[in-house]
Amino acid sequence: MSGIEFNGRLNDIPIYPAAETYEHAGDLVKLASNETPWGPPPAVMGAIQAQLETLNRYPDPDKSALRRAIADRSSISPTRVAVGNGSCEILMAAGEALLEPGAELIYAWPSFSMYPHLAAQSGATAVTVPLTDDGRHDLEEMAREVTAATRLVLVCNPNNPTATALPVQEIDAFVADLPRHLAVIVDEAYVEFNLLQDPDDSLDLLGRHPNLILLRTFSKVYGLCGLRAGYALGPESFRLAVDRVRQPFSVNALAQAAAAEAMRHQDEVERRVEATVEERVHIEMELADRGLGSTESQANFAWVDLGDLDEEKIVKGLAERGVIVRAGMALGQEGWMRVTYGTRPQNDRFLAALDSLL
Ligand code: PMP
Repeated sequence: MSGIEFNGRLNDIPIYPAAETYEHAGDLVKLASNETPWGPPPAVMGAIQAQLETLNRYPDPDKSALRRAIADRSSISPTRVAVGNGSCEILMAAGEALLEPGAELIYAWPSFSMYPHLAAQSGATAVTVPLTDDGRHDLEEMAREVTAATRLVLVCNPNNPTATALPVQEIDAFVADLPRHLAVIVDEAYVEFNLLQDPDDSLDLLGRHPNLILLRTFSKVYGLCGLRAGYALGPESFRLAVDRVRQPFSVNALAQAAAAEAMRHQDEVERRVEATVEERVHIEMELADRGLGSTESQANFAWVDLGDLDEEKIVKGLAERGVIVRAGMALGQEGWMRVTYGTRPQNDRFLAALDSLL
């Protein structure tokens, strides 16, 4: 009996490596998905609550209030703000809107695990450029890979999974040297945690580069990944294009209301960044005390060099002790692991579990 015949590209699409968090029961320390450890603040909970009674209505397909809140905060016209069901949806939509067989896209590797989907789904060709030895994007090499067929360049800053960041001036110079007809998406999912720059610094680049798109999310510092909301700032043509290839109601009413409210609480963002940086310093020092190196993190996670240690044994051993982290192998670099910073008690549970394995 023959089965259903799927489209020929399906086999090229990688399966997203889900965290093991969902497989284990009990009191887990979830450090595998670069989430923040804090629930929504009361004002955001209130905004969600207020929406519950209107769930018989479709959400606003224009995401007007949320786009206005983002635009006000970013000093940009709402016409240049695209909102998606997580920034991932905008990324996928950008692939659909920009790519096709014969087109090329360029990104560094290892980087965010969704990037390979863009070529696989569209039939375009992915050109990957290895990171430098210290886990940073090699922008010179990436620029060298641009051809007449290039449609899209992705720069993840700070980079997932290596946590490293490039100064905004380097990104500025990189984009300035590229042809204007190709789109450059700078994925800034972790920008708020990056101490090399203020999040507003990259907004300045939007005025200089008409082909630049900044991709940001409510999933990380805003802690709303369970609701799914992300956004892109760029030319109006980009928003219109990604809106055209998606269904109109992809961002639900709770997500729109919660994200708009969260944006109004920048004091909470600052508190979260401060707490995260404190944990960053703590974890880096504790890892160094154990002889484990890590890259210079500008994000809410550490990229840890396991040296001669058996990666699989460490990651499995941690999971058996209720601490879920990500194996480097699943993220493109064997012998490393990615550990999200949790609260101090969670981080200390991670360190204690690690000690029992070393
Ligand atoms: N970009 C990067 C670099 C990420 O690490 C993530 C989440 N892991 C995303 C984008 C997507 O996040 P979301 O779809 O939740 O906005």
